[in-house]
Amino acid sequence: ADKMAPTLKLNSGYEMPQVGFGLWKVDQSTAADTVYNAIKAGYRLFDGACDYGNEKECGEGVARAIKEGIVKREELFIVSKLWQTFHDEDKVEPITRKQLADWQIDYFDLFLIHFPAALEYVDPKVRYPPGWFYDGESEVRWSKTTLQQTWGAMEKLVEKKLARSIGISNYQAQSVYDALIYAKIRPATLQIEHHPYLQQPDLVNLAQKEGIVVTAYSSFGPTGFMELDMPRAKSAAPLMEHALIKEIAAKHKKTPAQVLLRWATQRGLAVIPKTSRPEVLAQNLGSTDFDLESSDLEKIAEMDLNIRFNKPTNYFSADKLF
Ligand code: NAD
Repeated sequence: ADKMAPTLKLNSGYEMPQVGFGLWKVDQSTAADTVYNAIKAGYRLFDGACDYGNEKECGEGVARAIKEGIVKREELFIVSKLWQTFHDEDKVEPITRKQLADWQIDYFDLFLIHFPAALEYVDPKVRYPPGWFYDGESEVRWSKTTLQQTWGAMEKLVEKKLARSIGISNYQAQSVYDALIYAKIRPATLQIEHHPYLQQPDLVNLAQKEGIVVTAYSSFGPTGFMELDMPRAKSAAPLMEHALIKEIAAKHKKTPAQVLLRWATQRGLAVIPKTSRPEVLAQNLGSTDFDLESSDLEKIAEMDLNIRFNKPTNYFSADKLF
């Protein structure tokens, strides 16, 4: 218990661990062990999604840890996300219930709208997870459901105690402003791509000023996208080998990865890095026990290049979408 992450207070009243574990690209074959080992290493927050295709296996890891008495359900903070094909108002609750069943739990601590765009419904019996394409290959079919309607259905999840807090992901400022107008329950968190090459300071400031906790994903920038063979990620200089990040790390006797995580958490953001290596698990979880100097923060601010790795057109060509 000495290695626990600090927590952030959400506008819903709940406490959220500031350092968690991201479950994207965690193989089905290793997901149960990965989650189980991360719990043993002290992780309490898990960031999952329908789209990651591993919720059942992650749930097995959680169930094993609870059964062995390593952790209690109420000590965990389990996050999942609503995929775009489930934005229609009548589809939100049934899919949330399916995702909860996969995790073997009866509420999510936090449930997010994964992307601010609605796709036509695909029955889970036809294909699960459904991905972007209606036919599973290349056809994109938009739904006419608005984000306001979907948010209304998310609010019902809270009323029905299927989610304790609800939030948003991949929204830009305009959609955040809009959500703040119609929300009866305000988004507790905004999860966005955030690293020194994509800092989005205005969006972060807006959310924080409005009492929305920002969670940074892909804190290591291109590194998380190398596994996908993404050309844009390969052509960007790795952040962990960047001269400034290495220099700051050496000065604080920390690793470059810890500097990248601390740069976010020191500014009030939460982080959800992913790794399967035990020594790296501990390193990332323990990244909040030092402070960068204000001159370090100022120099890192200068690294912003506004390069976004996680956008649909980096995965498939734009003519499929527009
Ligand atoms: P990441 O930034 O966590 O990077 C992962 C890569 O960094 C892996 O290759 C890992 O081996 C390596 N790594 C991790 N810790 C390291 C360390 N200390 N030293 C050296 N290498 C290290 O990658 P990510 O998966 O893109 O993002 C993290 C999580 O964010 C995801 O798993 C997911 O939960 C979430 N996410 C959400 C969205 C969204 O649309 N909401 C999109 C992308 C990611």
